[in-house]
Amino acid sequence: MNKIPVMRPKLPVADQILPYLRYIDVGRTYSNGGPLVAELETRITRLLRSPAGGIVCTGSGTAALVCAILASSGRARAARPLAIVPGYTFIATASAVEQCGYRPYLVDVDEMSWMLDPERLIAHPLLDHVGVIVPVASFGKPPQQEAWRRFARRTGIPIVIDAAASFEACVASPEQAIGDIPIALSFHATKSFATGEGGAVVTSDIALADRARQAMNFGFYGARNSQMPSINGKMSEYHAAVGLASLDSLYERQAAFRAVADCYRRYFNDVTMADNFHGFPEVAGCYALYLCQTSAETTAVHTALERFGVDFRLWYGSGLHNHAYYKDVERDELPVTEDLARRLVGVPVACDLSASDVSRVVAAIADGVRRDKIMPSIVNSKNNAIVGYA
Ligand SMILES: *Cc1c(COP(=O)(O)O)cnc(C)c1O
Repeated sequence: MNKIPVMRPKLPVADQILPYLRYIDVGRTYSNGGPLVAELETRITRLLRSPAGGIVCTGSGTAALVCAILASSGRARAARPLAIVPGYTFIATASAVEQCGYRPYLVDVDEMSWMLDPERLIAHPLLDHVGVIVPVASFGKPPQQEAWRRFARRTGIPIVIDAAASFEACVASPEQAIGDIPIALSFHATKSFATGEGGAVVTSDIALADRARQAMNFGFYGARNSQMPSINGKMSEYHAAVGLASLDSLYERQAAFRAVADCYRRYFNDVTMADNFHGFPEVAGCYALYLCQTSAETTAVHTALERFGVDFRLWYGSGLHNHAYYKDVERDELPVTEDLARRLVGVPVACDLSASDVSRVVAAIADGVRRDKIMPSIVNSKNNAIVGYA
């Protein structure tokens, strides 16, 4: 029995990229805002119905976060050394704020949304020491533009939303997802829209977008004179070539992800477990998530997935503070993060995942859930060692 991989990305094949590569051969521009990056930005601008200049393509999603932070709040200052990030996210969120000189401070997420709750955060006792807040649109949910704009207006604290996986949500309802608050997208190979490595800062605040563009390119603006803190965060023409080819088949790929999520829903429905499945369009097409109900059920589901030859992943690990480097990170108590991170299991997705593979994944989970119901104590005593997948 072949193991079903948790993710098998499929980017455009060589023949689809070739016309764009030939264009590079002729023009001999390889980076620094060449014509292909410009074309990619224009096409994304049109897709997201954004104002001209509001999309800044970058070398990675993390670079997009760094540039958006440098453009909004700048580097950390002594009076406001902290950056609030959720405990439940991918490492990049914390890494980005550190690259801008901030000390990450972890706050717990809301149990229903899996995200920071701006209404609760407004009363946080440390806000006077916070220079920037980086909420995460978990698993490609729509960025909560309006709620964070209100928060920024009330507190004066700059906000940058890590919306790494939210490209589809932005395309689906740009007027809700895009606004003054800058968002950072990732075009990493594992995301639904991919350039291999890549990302973008997206905002309707064009002055802010210009600063992000400057932060991305050594602080240069017009002249070779560095005028602000910066990195080299540029996207190359080669990555833009992949991105343009990806855009050529955007709707086919989206339809394929939708079909896989619908297939999951049908099979989960057959075993009356559809309520605990979270897939496209609630989250990005590149994620299929099963929310186990208890810790014991989680253990049983992990064991069953392994027995059925199904790879799975806890996409956000078991909370940032459980990574070695962040073990002493400053933080609130994180009970929801701890609980969610364990129970929310990432199961296989690919745009060409077969119905029989989906059926095997659902059978495995159903088996784990059933065993936990019948004899939880036995399952747990036999399998109390859980393999962690990061
Ligand atoms: C993918 C991802 C990133 C990082 O993007 P890169 O393009 O790999 O740098 C950041 N945050 C979250 C939540 C992500 O899922």
